[in-house]
Amino acid sequence: MLKTKKMIPLAIPHMSGMEEKYIQKAFSENWIAPLGSNVDAFEASIASYNRVLESAVVSSGTAAIHLALQLLGVGAGDTVFCSTFTFVASINPALYLGAEPVFIDSEQETWCMSPFALKKALEDARKKKQLPKAIIVVHIYGQSAKMDEIIALANEYGVPIVEDAAEALGSTYRNAPLGTLGDLGTFSFNGNKIITTSGGGALVAKQAEKIAEARFLASQSKEDAPYYLHHQVGYNYRLSNVLAGIGIAQMDVLNDRVAKKQEIFATYEKGLADVPSLVMMPELDIAKGNRWLSTMAFCVETVGKTPEDVIKLLKARGIDSRLLWKPMHQQPLFQDALFYADEAGDVATKLFQTGLCLPSSTQMTQEEQEYVMDTVKEILSK
Ligand SMILES: *Cc1c(COP(=O)(O)O)cnc(C)c1O
Repeated sequence: MLKTKKMIPLAIPHMSGMEEKYIQKAFSENWIAPLGSNVDAFEASIASYNRVLESAVVSSGTAAIHLALQLLGVGAGDTVFCSTFTFVASINPALYLGAEPVFIDSEQETWCMSPFALKKALEDARKKKQLPKAIIVVHIYGQSAKMDEIIALANEYGVPIVEDAAEALGSTYRNAPLGTLGDLGTFSFNGNKIITTSGGGALVAKQAEKIAEARFLASQSKEDAPYYLHHQVGYNYRLSNVLAGIGIAQMDVLNDRVAKKQEIFATYEKGLADVPSLVMMPELDIAKGNRWLSTMAFCVETVGKTPEDVIKLLKARGIDSRLLWKPMHQQPLFQDALFYADEAGDVATKLFQTGLCLPSSTQMTQEEQEYVMDTVKEILSK
């Protein structure tokens, strides 16, 4: 038994220690505002890390997705295709704009969007003469979707892609940063993400001029005029210059955090390899995910316990764990929405019913992880 009384958390913020220096800079310059030198430096850092010309930082990942959809002209009566296996924040912006989501299943090799289901949905949409205005591809748990297949389909039908890379900052596909493969990409710096500003988000775009447009929309669409002039709807979505200071310091340790998350995953994969029916979240050979959360699935019949049972037993032993995302097409909010399943059946629901997220904090000690693995083995084996 571990000599500690506190819970081993799922994932908690991990500061570098340099954040307060940049917060102090905002104070000493008295730029306590949603613009200033920290905002500029944070945007430059995100752009250069992701090898794009520009990025816009905003108040949340949800705001970034909202702006992305607005930039693509999504409006009332439009449809938007989206991964069903995600957090509701991927979808809510479509609702803000009066659009209707259509949910696309996951597939087994990535747990992300199924190209098979996407193809069926696009074929149907063409028959109905209502192609979607956008496809929101989520890189769930920081792991890449099958982007070659998804991009080929999007190009064939002429539909733009928004990559919801909220969980995937620092991940790559064919060595390209996730978030930069589609037309627009979004990130989140919420408290639970791989780096955090307590709350915040960012937008990147294939066409750099889209970023200027995003900043305009995020500043109430205020025109460049001697008085307050507005031609279109706008939002107050810019990120605080104080919080951007946290972001600058966090970007400096992003690569360390990614390396540590990948190490935690590899340790679980090795240590849990002989547990009957347990599988860790898979990954394509051509992708390198940040392993934001280490996730696994198992056979409920073999183990004789559900994920909820396992979570309760882990909690009693001082270990925090979580269920996988409950698919959007299973949410009361979306009971009338269309859903396209993978060829293997409803993969996302199956994942929800058989999987969990293991403690993945980058501060977790080796001793703590050994204790987690021993406890998981014990619970799943008896
Ligand atoms: C966290 C998250 C978001 C939203 O980000 P916020 O910054 O919390 O608004 C969107 N999509 C996914 C998949 C997320 O995990």
